[in-house]
Amino acid sequence: MCYIKSMGKEHEQKKDVHPKNTLAFALLVIAMISWFQSTPVIASETPPQPIPIFLYHHIRNVKERWSVSPSLFEEEVKYLFDYGYHSVAMDAYENAVQNHTELPKKPVVLTFDDGYEDMYTHALPILQKYGMVGTFYIITGFVGTNGFLTWDQLSEMQKAGMEIGGHTVHHVFLANLPMNMAKEEIEKCKSELEKHLGNKITSFAYPFNDHNKTVEKLVEQAGYTNAVIVDIHYGDDPTNPYSIPRITVGTGESMALFARGAEKGYAGINPSVQN
Ligand SMILES: [Zn+2]
Repeated sequence: MCYIKSMGKEHEQKKDVHPKNTLAFALLVIAMISWFQSTPVIASETPPQPIPIFLYHHIRNVKERWSVSPSLFEEEVKYLFDYGYHSVAMDAYENAVQNHTELPKKPVVLTFDDGYEDMYTHALPILQKYGMVGTFYIITGFVGTNGFLTWDQLSEMQKAGMEIGGHTVHHVFLANLPMNMAKEEIEKCKSELEKHLGNKITSFAYPFNDHNKTVEKLVEQAGYTNAVIVDIHYGDDPTNPYSIPRITVGTGESMALFARGAEKGYAGINPSVQN
């Protein structure tokens, strides 16, 4: 922004050059152009590049909206790897946003909701093959039940560098619940994860994307430092750490759309959002 402003200022100065000094004026313009071309734009003066945060559910060979086949998932992860992206977990992302800690070049966040068993059988090996990490949001009341991850699998995933986040105890619509019940769903999920996994849980995802200011406050008060949503809806503030938008990746996504999401972040595939 400052780059453009300073160019405008120089342009105003050019008007003051006396017409008789045409040659000197031309030389001045050439010198100015070459100066601008050789002067790198200072990073802090450029608008921040939105960091893409992708959302997956199942990684499996089932034809339904929320399932991405392992082969397509591998194609997407390989794309990120080949194009020099570096995955970070949500806690690292939020730490960088809040505390200005450094992120690797071309950061990308891969998130996975619900804690299905195929996270362990399909997602994990592909992520590991390309040296990527992900954030997995777990419904603690479903852990170890049919089709969901077990505590041992979660522990193994965490040891492999994956981040485990909260997604309530029973996958409920939080905004519809009486406040004390919503509070319990949010807090108990965190304490159960911490008890079984032995480390602090800081990231949260709202089941069904159901959230409002009260729910966001409960998540903050429970000690989570960030919470992700599925999309930007009326009333959401994209700079709020408790309503961070994600790009949903579904069945049969084109690689062109995926690549655009990776390059531009959330705004790249949602034209209604500025920047
Ligand atoms: Zn969910």
